[in-house]
Amino acid sequence: MVDTGRSPVTVIGLGAMGYALAEAFVRAGHPTTVWNRTAAKAEGLVAQGAVRAETVAEAVETSSLVVVCVLDYPAVHGLLEPVAERLSGRVVLNLTNGTPEEARETAKWAAGHGADYVDGGIMAIPPMIGGPASVILYSGSREAFDAHAQALGHWGTSKFLGADAGLASLYDLALLGAMYGMFYGANAAFAMVGTEKVTAASFATELLVPWLNSMAAVLPMLAEEIDSGAEISAERKLVEKVALTNIIGTARAQGVVDKFVAPMQSIKDNS
Ligand code: NAP
Repeated sequence: MVDTGRSPVTVIGLGAMGYALAEAFVRAGHPTTVWNRTAAKAEGLVAQGAVRAETVAEAVETSSLVVVCVLDYPAVHGLLEPVAERLSGRVVLNLTNGTPEEARETAKWAAGHGADYVDGGIMAIPPMIGGPASVILYSGSREAFDAHAQALGHWGTSKFLGADAGLASLYDLALLGAMYGMFYGANAAFAMVGTEKVTAASFATELLVPWLNSMAAVLPMLAEEIDSGAEISAERKLVEKVALTNIIGTARAQGVVDKFVAPMQSIKDNS
């Protein structure tokens, strides 16, 4: 490992995301220690200069910043609880997807063992890490975040949301919810035009993506309306109801499977 003067960092969990996070650290010149349940996944990083720890305990003890990015919180606790006494004085940065409550409980647990805790939500997919579109949300210990802000900057744009460790998860899940809603709606649209043998790829490129991009530009207006508490006018409700009735009727007439029609029906029933 080359001495670059950068702080040593540890990354536990080398799935698609943990690997990308560790790789960004290595490329930026941070002495990087890595550990993964399936040890072979560390090989590519070791070839680039990372050091593979034999145990979680060894991985934790190497750095003051311990990043954890695994499948879920039970996995996080399964890994960290046996080494809890070694966390004292370190920063645990948990980038594993979970609920705000899980983040708050883990923050409490970490504090009980003398560790600072920062929770994170990664608004990127692995190939985006380190690039301009990668945004990482953080919440929890501001002091710990500030102490490592420079290292974290190698992953993309950092956004610190507040001292409540659950905030990053809350924002992350809200954003993911919007994304899944869009994907689901897009699948319903593919199914509708697919009944006339239109390929999803051509429909996406020529029409759907430009349409959704222009509709995304309307969202700040919608947000302003929500913030102002203004009621949606009866005329607009009526126009939306007619459109939804036509979407549902046409999807059913074209034989689109019910799983794509049902969400529209629910939006209409509740609008
Ligand atoms: P992944 O490729 O499926 O990797 C899962 C990781 O968790 C592996 O390192 C796996 O170890 C480890 N793991 C699972 N169960 C474990 C256990 N019981 N004990 C120890 N290690 C365990 O997933 P990923 O894409 O890296 O995602 C990791 C986290 O990042 C998730 O919380 C995910 O929601 C979040 N995230 C991912 C993306 C994305 O686009 N991929 C984007 C944003 C956030 P093995 O290698 O030994 O199986």
